[in-house]
Amino acid sequence: PVVTRFAPSPTGFLHIGGARTALFNWLYARGRGGRFLLRIEDTDRARSTPEATEAILQGMAWLGLDHDGEIVSQFENADRHAAVARELLAAGKAYKCFATQDDITAFREAARAEGKSTLYRSPWRDADPASHPDAPFVIRIKAPQSGNTVIHDEVQGEVTIRNDQLDDMVLLRSDGTPVYMLAVVVDDHDMGVTHVIRGDDHLNNAARQMMIYHAMGWDVPVWAHIPLIHGPDGKKLSKRHGALGAQEYQAMGYPAAGMRNYLARLGWSHGDDEFFTDAQARAWFDLSGIGKSPARFDLKKLENLSGLHIAQSDDAALQQEITGYLAATGAPALTRRQAEMLSRALYCVKDRAKTLPELLEKAHFALTSRPIETEEKAAKNLDTVSRGMLGELTPHLQTDSWDKENLEGILNRFAESKDTKFGKLAGPLRAALSGRAVTPSVFDMMLVLGKEETLARLTDAAQ
Ligand code: GLU
Repeated sequence: PVVTRFAPSPTGFLHIGGARTALFNWLYARGRGGRFLLRIEDTDRARSTPEATEAILQGMAWLGLDHDGEIVSQFENADRHAAVARELLAAGKAYKCFATQDDITAFREAARAEGKSTLYRSPWRDADPASHPDAPFVIRIKAPQSGNTVIHDEVQGEVTIRNDQLDDMVLLRSDGTPVYMLAVVVDDHDMGVTHVIRGDDHLNNAARQMMIYHAMGWDVPVWAHIPLIHGPDGKKLSKRHGALGAQEYQAMGYPAAGMRNYLARLGWSHGDDEFFTDAQARAWFDLSGIGKSPARFDLKKLENLSGLHIAQSDDAALQQEITGYLAATGAPALTRRQAEMLSRALYCVKDRAKTLPELLEKAHFALTSRPIETEEKAAKNLDTVSRGMLGELTPHLQTDSWDKENLEGILNRFAESKDTKFGKLAGPLRAALSGRAVTPSVFDMMLVLGKEETLARLTDAAQ
């Protein structure tokens, strides 16, 4: 069974690259009936904060990236990591190195002077334990010194690293704390991770991590190192490009479904498909569809997909997105009445909205209540003549069949009786019903508002 994981370091919010990595791992596991685990890599005590962990969890929750099992804290596994280092020591695959910082510096200077590799070679690797001093030591792994290490990467292909370029890396520091590289391998092994999908900035680490897998005789996971995301200018995505935390996109009003679709397309493709549902993404996602070159962040594409997802989203899901969006921006939640009105209005406002704020703007007529505030642009449609016309119209709307056909008939007949076109009525009606100049169709507004509210707003405007 497939087991993937997302292993963020809790040093900041969930950025776009991290969200994409999490999504890929989630899709891969969910599409294969596998498990998707979450490990917080909090071994760097100075830089890790609980706030960052919280922000990462919130970002994942928004994106719907649910993980299986308990959240693993890497720091809490430190004893286990140290035990593995000692196991390797006992097995002769690692050794105690008593070299001081001065020894290492001296080694490097001498090597540089002789024009040799400055990679540290510890004299303690082959020292007789009987000669060990009673002094602080680190535990180093015995790296292979000849041949090659080959990483079979699902994205990068075969990556070969000459073993004479690998040093005997430290596993356990002199204070007994494990190094990050050891922690990752032990945790991945203990968690049963079968597939490691992560940014290609970790590709070099993979070669060193393989040494530990081999030394322990553990199965090496399937590697997939994905190219980092670039900005529109082709340079690595950074704050300069307006790269934001995943949740800031929620506050900008992109629905999670649109964001997932967009993130999935950042570096992964399935034929020419741009728009797809979650079910399709789960069914289609495969490591072979991950591109070798960096994907470029493109806000236009995000907007486009966001609009398509809003249009095809079911109403309950949209309501939930809107609730999340309002909370993310610190805006007041919808009242029960507003939520009810919104659900009545969704059918006529969700079609051409690229973002949730655009949708709410279109639904303004349904969310607002009397007295209607009239925008300046709409106010000019409510001059004396128009107001008089609205006043004359209201009695005609005292009908029991409040449906589109009947309302159309009434308005057209009324316009005819005034020797004018329905078009001339539309502006004043829009202004009266919504206070705005740009709205959904007059009929849709009348249907959503219902007879009583429509008549009340028209009567208000006619005053
Ligand atoms: N903690 C690492 C990071 O946030 C990820 C390590 C890994 O995926 O192996 O970049």
